Amino acid sequence: MKNIVVQKFGGTSVADTDKIKNVAKAVIKERNNGNDVVVVVSAMGHTTDYLVKMAKEISENPSSREMDMLLSTGEGVSIALLSMALQAQGCPAVSMNAIQVGIMTEKVHSKARIINIKTDKIRRHLDKGEVVVVAGFQGVTDDLEITTLGRGGSDTSAVALAGALNAIRCDIYTDVEGVYTTDPRVVPNASRLDEISYEEMLELARVGANVLHPRAVETAKQYKVPLRVRSTFKLDNLGTLILGVDEMELHRPVSGVASDLSQLRIVVCDVKDNPGTAAVLFNGLANENISVDMIIQSYARKALNTNDIAFTIDKGDLDKAMEILEKVKKDLEFSNVFVDDKIAKISIVGAGMIDRPGIAATMFKTLADLGINIKMISTSEIKISCIVAEDKAKEAVIGLHKVFHLDSEEIAEVKGDLPPEV
Ligand code: ADP
Ligand code: ASP
Ligand code: MG
Repeated sequence: MKNIVVQKFGGTSVADTDKIKNVAKAVIKERNNGNDVVVVVSAMGHTTDYLVKMAKEISENPSSREMDMLLSTGEGVSIALLSMALQAQGCPAVSMNAIQVGIMTEKVHSKARIINIKTDKIRRHLDKGEVVVVAGFQGVTDDLEITTLGRGGSDTSAVALAGALNAIRCDIYTDVEGVYTTDPRVVPNASRLDEISYEEMLELARVGANVLHPRAVETAKQYKVPLRVRSTFKLDNLGTLILGVDEMELHRPVSGVASDLSQLRIVVCDVKDNPGTAAVLFNGLANENISVDMIIQSYARKALNTNDIAFTIDKGDLDKAMEILEKVKKDLEFSNVFVDDKIAKISIVGAGMIDRPGIAATMFKTLADLGINIKMISTSEIKISCIVAEDKAKEAVIGLHKVFHLDSEEIAEVKGDLPPEV
């Protein structure tokens, strides 16, 4: 039996028919190495954005079921065209959507999790010598409802398939040459990392480095899938390898900086300072599948027996969240709700910050020196995030990138050497 390699190509890699022909060449190159190849593709170029735009022109609040029906069509176009391109170049190939494969998900529209992937049909085609081209981003429930995995979710389709097929590698081909210390389109002297741990990559993906979908990294870690991010347009470059933290040396306290403009902050004022208040509020949000990221509860005003609770959610969940707040108003007896949608979450991530004091202080001082006010803070073992005003995001990222010695000329000096002082 041959080894299986899963290759995933994102939207820019399949943006037009010439690019699709180019992707076919990359697939054939991998197949010529003697491996069985399963390819996962995204929708062409900005197709998914265009589909969202059309839906919004038809309805202000389209149902999530119909949104999934609509958005899943983009990937359907790419798989058929790539399969044709492979056949035209003499490579036997077959395209399959999520129903045909059996990419089974939970019954949640727009951000479903994969529960299980059936592999028998794929294996039958691989055994016939065919390349199997699978639609990313989509799934199906056990009662044949179409779901999608969340924006950017094709990465997760690829890694989950690699796990299910016991692939020797999952290569995520994209429009940059790997994982960088920050978005190279925002900071041109960002440095490409040769390797990064699953843990750091997971935090970076969660805090806005959209080069990988967070659940793809989670799945890779869980199933120990060797994962690489590399360039579609420079096939010989190996890009960035994502691997276990115990397998790498920690040269640096901070590995990356990211910004996320997709959230907004809601402040609920003067809620009763009683047991159960937070439970009522956040249960209500959870029941509507709204993920809450940061939460801050202010120091109770004893005389009034009230508190303020501030939290952040995705901008797209605002309408649903406001409906929930309306429903719980009589229980929580709050006075006011403020919405601040001009915020950015700026984060630094690094496994090397564990047991190294002073990293948070350096971050706060850097922002202070730039005159940037911090509205909320949250930390985990290997991450510190601050909410700042949206129009300060770029300045904050550039400042932090510099202070933590991540600019390309500095990284080149540090590799293989002692960690830099911060
Ligand atoms: P694809 O369509 O291939 O899935 P994406 O647009 O989802 O591509 O992801 C690639 C983009 O991620 C890059 O073009 C880059 O602008 C952005 N990005 C954000 N943070 C990083 C980072 N730390 N390293 C590399 N790319 C990043
Ligand atoms: N086409 C989907 C999106 O644009 C999925 C993906 O590209 O990963 O979000
Ligand atoms: Mg992507």
